[in-house]
Amino acid sequence: MSRTLYWFTHDLRLDDNPALHQAANSESLLLVYCVNPDWFAPSRYGSPSLGAHRWRFLQQALADLETSLDKVGQHLLILNDRPRIALTELVSKNAIQRLICSRQFGMDEKSELRGLSMQMPELEIVEVDTYTLFNQQDIHFADDEMPATYSKFRRHAEKWSTTPALPAPKNLPPPPKVVSKKGTTLSSFRAEHSTTENLLTGGEAAAQTHLSQYFAGDLPLSYKVVRNELDGFVNSSKMSSWLNMGCLSVRRLRIRIQGYEAERGGNDSTYWLFIELLWREYFLWLALQTKSKLFNFQGSAAQPPSTVYQREKFESWCQADTPYPLVNACMCQLNETGYLSNRGRQIAASCLVNELGQDWRFGAAWFENQLVDYNVAVNWGNWQYIAGVGADPRGGRHFNLSKQTELYDPLGQYRRRWGSV
Ligand SMILES: Cc1cc2nc3c(=O)[nH]c(=O)nc-3n(C[C@H](O)[C@H](O)[C@H](O)COP(=O)(O)OP(=O)(O)OC[C@H]3O[C@@H](n4cnc5c(N)ncnc54)[C@H](O)[C@@H]3O)c2cc1C
Repeated sequence: MSRTLYWFTHDLRLDDNPALHQAANSESLLLVYCVNPDWFAPSRYGSPSLGAHRWRFLQQALADLETSLDKVGQHLLILNDRPRIALTELVSKNAIQRLICSRQFGMDEKSELRGLSMQMPELEIVEVDTYTLFNQQDIHFADDEMPATYSKFRRHAEKWSTTPALPAPKNLPPPPKVVSKKGTTLSSFRAEHSTTENLLTGGEAAAQTHLSQYFAGDLPLSYKVVRNELDGFVNSSKMSSWLNMGCLSVRRLRIRIQGYEAERGGNDSTYWLFIELLWREYFLWLALQTKSKLFNFQGSAAQPPSTVYQREKFESWCQADTPYPLVNACMCQLNETGYLSNRGRQIAASCLVNELGQDWRFGAAWFENQLVDYNVAVNWGNWQYIAGVGADPRGGRHFNLSKQTELYDPLGQYRRRWGSV
């Protein structure tokens, strides 16, 4: 038994949270979330990492977590500070012996952890797998030997099993007596709302409702047939935002797919939903191997791309003002709602790189700012894939815009809906 600090990051839930279960085995437990001011400052690509859509979703997720923790006799301390600064102070004031958090996949979060460990070598730091289907020790590849292609990873990973999901804890140990750092309330943050009514509501409760609704009827049975549609909330699962903020456990989702298959009978579509989760899995574990290369212009390619950064061209893309109506519609949808279908993301990204000849990293940073479902490994990994500098044996993807328009928006409905014709 020890005095533990649990640092919530991309794991804003109680259900199937093995890190929280581990932390529950403590004499006292301090639960902390840090809203890092750096998220709101412009990055080297011009926009802040956290835009209005994801910020709205995050605040909803934190409010929901506060309610759930209250029910198990605990309290969430929300701090408006860089984790390293905030956590160091809390650890020393409360004589914390152990810090537990979810495994971190982003470079910034990893460096926060490294900083903490250097500053407080006596503090035990434990990272637990809560974000992936598989635990690190179950990945049959060494850290630096991830397959160079997704298909090779998938051939193996399809056969791996996952550990059973855990129920939410019924109670948690009390917070320590001291604490001392004054927390921030959610209402003290500037109310910054997305401009449109959004179907994506942050939090574990909303995630569970969405999970039940998606699997209540026939939607999973036609997933593979309609997943490439540009529009329509039900044409893909829309699980990504909850998965990436950790409001929903990806293992819980897999178990739900398996349950549905047992009950209703599986088909190509239910299988494909699982296969898409393996893409997420691949990008996450690959990011641990590629480290800072994930953000390099040249990535893992032998040659750097021949693209450049030209402010006007890049901004025309961000502002949905390119010569390509289909791309403009995609960008309007992204900017207005914080969501874009996978096909839409591919079309928009390919246009920035191929038609407009721009440096892919600026596009990735714009997506980072806009997307509710932003995931560092998946976003930057997919951009690298399209730019031909990532996990891609074919050297990039160029989507023919006329063909895509003919295939996915022959009657112009999508372009009209998002105001580009
Ligand atoms: C340039 C670009 C950037 C992207 N950025 C992100 C991002 O930041 N976060 C993110 O979650 N996805 C990203 N994707 C992948 C994909 O577009 C989204 O996961 C998907 O559109 C989310 O909607 P959904 O949950 O309805 O997906 P579904 O089609 O229902 O798929 C189910 C789940 O599988 C996973 N998945 C699906 N497609 C992919 C993919 N291509 N790569 C990895 N995982 C996938 C997601 O977790 C998704 O929730 C990006 C794709 C591109 C081309």
